[in-house]
Amino acid sequence: MSILVLGGAGYIGSHAVYQLIDQGYEVAVIDNLQTGHQGAIHPKAHFYKGDIRSREFMKTVFEKENVEAIMHFAANSLVGESMLEPLKYFDNNVHGTQIVLEMMKEYGVKHIVFSSTAAVYGEQEIMPIAEEAAELPTNTYGETKLVVEKMMAWCEKAFDLKYVSLRYFNVAGARSDGQIGEDHNPETHLIPVVLEAALGKRPAITVFGDDYDTSDGTCIRDYIHVEDLIAAHILALKYLQNYGQSNIFNLGSSQGFSVNEIIETAKEATGIDIPVQFGARRSGDPSTLIASSEKARQVLGWNPARTSIKQIISDAWNWHQHHPNGYEGEQYD
Ligand code: UDP
Repeated sequence: MSILVLGGAGYIGSHAVYQLIDQGYEVAVIDNLQTGHQGAIHPKAHFYKGDIRSREFMKTVFEKENVEAIMHFAANSLVGESMLEPLKYFDNNVHGTQIVLEMMKEYGVKHIVFSSTAAVYGEQEIMPIAEEAAELPTNTYGETKLVVEKMMAWCEKAFDLKYVSLRYFNVAGARSDGQIGEDHNPETHLIPVVLEAALGKRPAITVFGDDYDTSDGTCIRDYIHVEDLIAAHILALKYLQNYGQSNIFNLGSSQGFSVNEIIETAKEATGIDIPVQFGARRSGDPSTLIASSEKARQVLGWNPARTSIKQIISDAWNWHQHHPNGYEGEQYD
């Protein structure tokens, strides 16, 4: 039986595939390679290139694989883009997941671990944010993830489906052996963008707004190492397989860092005086997002091991230094 990883050629999905295979799981990957990379796919995974929105394609995979459970990372995930192209987000993230759930129903697959986001919370008064906080997304991306959470909850009432939705805060870092890492085109996430500026691939890092109501005026986020994040997914899978109820968990480090603090730490980690410039706020950005991850610790027994922000940035830097052009131009079997 295999774990089917949707979006297994992407940044977070590929780290999941590697960790699952490390732990002895059989893994099948679906990816349309729209944002994923052939070179990020583990050579031992059974790879199916195609789109989750195609029922015909999905059926061919479910006919071939004996799917035990699903990890679903296949989505568009850029806050800024989601404000400009909302329908692209509803189509891929919501409609795409609808097809996934249809397949689960048709083929009797009961368990799904879903990638959700802190963006479902929007602006909150109380930090850190617990799972009971009101869901008030300020961008389309967060809204689409919230719709999927609701869709799964309604499906659970109607048929035999159990889900864990994991609300990620800011994921960064790379596998410590440097084999896989973060490679988006265009890159928009803060840590890789800062590291691209360190490599001289862009002239400077632009700070999006320094007039927020925070200690230094720049946005505060909670950064979590991708390897810790994936460890929580595997615990969530085991939780469902041990008859755990459908549930929602935040995944973060419970520590907040401002954009300026990230840049300063990146300067230390790289030893490079990264050029900085200040720009306008980015549409849809909440000022502060910090997680309470108590529930994941208590219920899943999650114990993140790579919580130092310097280590997160250093692991990302290790990948960027050795793969300055990401996966591009590299030879893969
Ligand atoms: N950010 C920035 N410059 C950049 C990219 C991001 O100032 O080039 C800021 C962004 O406005 C946000 C924080 O860094 O406050 C984290 O953004 P990112 O896109 O990494 O993640 P998000 O919080 O949007 O999921």
